[in-house]
Amino acid sequence: MRVILSHDVDHITVWEHWKDPILPKYIVRAYLERALGKISWKELALRHSDFLTNRWERITEVMDLHDKLDIRSCFFFGMANGVGLSYPLRHAEKHVPQVQARGFEAGVHGIAYSDEAAMAAEHQRFAAISGRSDFGIRMHYLRQDETTFQKLAALGYAFDATRQELSDPYRLHGMWEFPLLLMDGWAMDGEKRYQSRDLGGAKQFALAKLDEAEKAGLQYASILFHDRYYSPAFATWKAWYEWLLGHLKERGHTFITHAEAMRQLEAAEARGTNAGME
Ligand SMILES: [Zn+2]
Repeated sequence: MRVILSHDVDHITVWEHWKDPILPKYIVRAYLERALGKISWKELALRHSDFLTNRWERITEVMDLHDKLDIRSCFFFGMANGVGLSYPLRHAEKHVPQVQARGFEAGVHGIAYSDEAAMAAEHQRFAAISGRSDFGIRMHYLRQDETTFQKLAALGYAFDATRQELSDPYRLHGMWEFPLLLMDGWAMDGEKRYQSRDLGGAKQFALAKLDEAEKAGLQYASILFHDRYYSPAFATWKAWYEWLLGHLKERGHTFITHAEAMRQLEAAEARGTNAGME
């Protein structure tokens, strides 16, 4: 399979959340995970020190890791605020060009999923910041209704990466849909709202997903890892992601970007064949 890695940038600083309930929840969750023995005392301490460093994003750390492995991935940035995404646009204005300058992809982490004017504003903001028109989107919390994708396509998004399906990319209202195969939270938290698995359990979850994808004969697989968890304060998440990249390679899979995948898919479309057959 050709694996497309992406990162939803849900947080930039800690204190951007000063007026939403995320901070008390964050602390309660940390103590609960410690009580359940899922995280170490060191991780618990590091989660407190985040309040002093005031940094929750780990964009550079993820790019550094991927650089070492010669991988390119995609970072989705919020262009509006909603449901726990609270950073101001100026933070995205700073990070998007840095991501692009290092040869990584950037796209929109969508907030509005029904209100056309709000959706258009997010698209316009990202076009202005990135200087591009060929970018894609993933909705925050994978939110959608029956009109979302038609509206995104009409706005000119090149692709969407929101839907959760066991499928290769396909055309959806003209744009490309890259269905999500696997994300960090599903592996670490399971059905809970906190880390309910240890590293072994999280690996098992990923292995089962990869087995399913291979059995289905998928040519492409989308995997989401939130950059904020690439941190010693989330040691299990970080270890899981490093293991996953190595495991994918061992298993014979390669890594590509949405842009590369779309080029392959469009070339195959022009030939009237399946992209996997080239
Ligand atoms: Zn999100």
